[in-house]
Amino acid sequence: ILNQNIADLKGDLNVSFEFFPPTSEAMEDTLWQSIDRLKTLKPKFVSVTYGANSGTRDRTHSVIKEIKDRTGLVAAPHLTCIDASKDELKQIALDYWNSGIKNIVALRGDIPAGSDKPHMYATDLVRLLKEQADFDISVAAYPEVHPEAKNAQADLLAFKDKMDAGADRAITQFFFDVESYLRFRDRCAAIGITQEIVPGILPVSNYKTLVKFSKLCNVKVPGWMHKLYDGTDNDPTTRNLIGASIAMDMVKVLGQEGVKDFHFYTLNRSELSYAICHTLGLRP
Ligand code: FAD
Repeated sequence: ILNQNIADLKGDLNVSFEFFPPTSEAMEDTLWQSIDRLKTLKPKFVSVTYGANSGTRDRTHSVIKEIKDRTGLVAAPHLTCIDASKDELKQIALDYWNSGIKNIVALRGDIPAGSDKPHMYATDLVRLLKEQADFDISVAAYPEVHPEAKNAQADLLAFKDKMDAGADRAITQFFFDVESYLRFRDRCAAIGITQEIVPGILPVSNYKTLVKFSKLCNVKVPGWMHKLYDGTDNDPTTRNLIGASIAMDMVKVLGQEGVKDFHFYTLNRSELSYAICHTLGLRP
């Protein structure tokens, strides 16, 4: 398997990179260095996450505009329904459209703890966006089931509705169990979802944080990963190499299973995502 090349994919390969709005000057420098390096791989689009408070919202907007102006890349802001009225969402959508931003990652967002306000689902946001203009829309998918879903079947049916509302593709929550992605993709196909289910690849550099975060997201961290990272708490270099190696193995298997689109959760760093794309056959 190791010697089997998947570089033949090259022609049809699409990658996208996700960033978050930086909160300090140092972080801003890192972000731009990363964008400058990753843009050479000609991503299909790059996206910028959207936080739950208005400060981060404005930053998403300004980072997206800057990426578009400075690099000419297709830049897709994430947009959530949390704490925004339908009118506000319509206005945000129109502002994006009028400034030439036509790709959006549409999400519900996480409900703030203790909130019992009625809320929209991502499906409602997809419909609202499509009513404003013909946006290219990505939505979220959960191969290992969204933590709030009643069960896997209910989650899948809600996901089908969201795709039918007008999504162009779905990007998955990160995962490490490739089988869970492949089974999910099969179940999507079986109920008639035809859009691409793009695997979200998280190259892991901070293992301890990952373990905590994965629990919240209902993502399995397999036992073999615990063994691999064991003893690396104070060794970031080794952790990075392990993270890259795991993701390289994953994309290789996914490529062999016919996956041609990959989304990378870069955490604003370029090294690991760049190296993983290189092993997929991508060159500047
Ligand atoms: P939905 O698709 O609305 O689903 C939420 C839950 O509701 C699921 O359990 C679903 O089964 C259920 N459901 C859906 N429709 C119905 C219905 N009609 N009746 C009953 N139940 C229903 N969060 C951010 O805050 N900012 C970001 O930038 C961000 N980016 C993300 C990017 C990706 C690729 C992914 C995978 C997630 C991202 N998130 C982000 C996290 C996301 O906001 C949370 O996972 C959130 O809890 C769910 O959002 P959703 O769009 O998947 O919701």
